[in-house]
Amino acid sequence: MTAIESSGPFRELHLAFARILAARHAPGMLIDMLVGQAFDLFEDNIGVQTQDLPPLACQKGCPSCCILRVTATAPEIFLLADYVQRIDATPQGAALALPRRIAHAHRATGGLAEAERMALRKPCPFIIHGVCIVHPVRPLACRGHASFDRRACARAAAGRDVEVPVSEPHLNLRGLIQNALQSALRSAGLSWGLHEMNHGLVLALDGHGRRGRWLEGGDSLGPIVAEFDATSAAERFDQLLAN
Ligand code: SF4
Ligand code: SF4
Repeated sequence: MTAIESSGPFRELHLAFARILAARHAPGMLIDMLVGQAFDLFEDNIGVQTQDLPPLACQKGCPSCCILRVTATAPEIFLLADYVQRIDATPQGAALALPRRIAHAHRATGGLAEAERMALRKPCPFIIHGVCIVHPVRPLACRGHASFDRRACARAAAGRDVEVPVSEPHLNLRGLIQNALQSALRSAGLSWGLHEMNHGLVLALDGHGRRGRWLEGGDSLGPIVAEFDATSAAERFDQLLAN
């Protein structure tokens, strides 16, 4: 879990997500609203958080970092699955065979530790001609990874032992928003762990009613990533909400 310095913003964001969850929206709308709120919070606040920093090196068509493992909450994965299905429903989109690409990426990388996955250098299935084709709905993890040195990213992706100068405000804001969302999901009795994106998507796209099971409190998107320590995260969330 990313360190959260102050309980005030955490509690405020937790309550914002909790209000959406309590409003009993229709299932599709609930996921759109929850994740839309998370993405808006990130995009609306990252500018202020980084205004005194040098410009980022990130730009369209710079996919070296997209060999990293992506983790996401269940609602982020369901939203992404909807987007994939909408692309797949058009003739042009169907030609991309996204579900097959996702399944292939999962077969190649599923179960690998982060370092092993990095060594494999297998790009994310959503990189098409060097560009992320799901950019509007990319998970918080992707939004929170930004660098000041494009060459360092490329060298790290090529397996060189280099330090990539990443933006701490991006990491911290992603952590704050994602943790607050997880905390609200937990309070609502919903599964709130982090899943590996490709595995979660393979399951979300399999047509077995996984969204409905998640909405009923089930854990329908496969294993939680091993590094996610639910016990310590829950303790931290409770402390932050109590302060
Ligand atoms: S993190 Fe690095 S590789 Fe990724 S978009 Fe930014 S500069 Fe490019
Ligand atoms: S979802 Fe998009 S931004 Fe995230 S790793 Fe995949 S291609 Fe990169």
